[in-house]
Amino acid sequence: MATTPQTNADLAAIASVLKGCDDIVVCGHVSPDGDCLGSQLGLAAALRSLGKRVACLLAKDEPADERLSFLPGFADLIPAARYEGPARAFVAVDVPTRERIGEDGAALLDACETSVTVDHHAADAAMTALAYVDPDAASTTVLVWELAGLLGADRAGDVATCCYTGLVTDTGRFQYQNTDAAALRAAAEMVEAGADPAAVSRAVFQNRSVPSALLEARAVERMRLCVGGAAALSWLSQADFEALGAAKADAEPVVDALRSVRGVRVACMLREQDGAVRGSLRAKDDTDVAFLARELGGGGHRAAAGFTLETGLEEATALLERRLADLLEGDRLK
Ligand code: 5GP
Ligand code: MN
Repeated sequence: MATTPQTNADLAAIASVLKGCDDIVVCGHVSPDGDCLGSQLGLAAALRSLGKRVACLLAKDEPADERLSFLPGFADLIPAARYEGPARAFVAVDVPTRERIGEDGAALLDACETSVTVDHHAADAAMTALAYVDPDAASTTVLVWELAGLLGADRAGDVATCCYTGLVTDTGRFQYQNTDAAALRAAAEMVEAGADPAAVSRAVFQNRSVPSALLEARAVERMRLCVGGAAALSWLSQADFEALGAAKADAEPVVDALRSVRGVRVACMLREQDGAVRGSLRAKDDTDVAFLARELGGGGHRAAAGFTLETGLEEATALLERRLADLLEGDRLK
């Protein structure tokens, strides 16, 4: 697999460093998704099988996605701001930048003598002393799975379930462009080790809240098709969340409904959050939406990226309509 320039260690080297550590904190990104929590909890379970003391930190002090509450160890996730236990080694998983581990996560990172990143997001620089970043990995949990093997950890049961969950969510149930032979091989290993695909799917994909389904209905009704139908754009306001009693995480699946429309190459979902606008971009072809997200101060992968705009919804919608036209029309002229 191809690693990025900020990679300065391989997984075997990271395994041997972690074997010599204890009091390990494993941190992910703000608004943690299935790959983030699966990576954190999977690595924690692997390290605990070796007798290590490990804590899993939430970058922000806010509730994590309820649909992931079946993950072993979910109940013990602790916001970095409230963590008072020992911390000697910091492991960042599924997160490339200090800004995405939040201020409290960054403070703990600075206080640790050992720091490691295991990730699949390309970034300009590493934030830890040791880093292994492989953008070709379908999920960070594929890397955690390999790392757990190199650690000699017991991967049966909890580790397998956590790693499979990250893989099935980050590949959109093995549908997205990142679904390759390596991903499917890793999935088979995880299932052999005890991950239950049907149970994970029921918990994650067949288990959305009523407000989440209603948010999607509003967003689909409002969907604007731009650039001759090649882009789908929609939005949800703070008022929508309040009226439906929806939580932030309830909006997470909505962008997929936009992407699923025939002819749409790029979907963009905007939602009002904490006085700013969060945007999610998804590409169905090889359009590089991470490029657009980076231009807007965010980042992510070629086919799935995000950003935050410090503007109102109306301004954000107008801006995205222009930028999507630039992105897709520019493409057409190539
Ligand atoms: P989502 O749309 O689900 O929030 O994010 C899609 C992908 O883009 C995820 O891999 C996520 O880590 C990344 N991403 C989302 N928002 C940001 C952001 O503001 N900055 C960076 N660097 N990556 C982001
Ligand atoms: Mn990921």
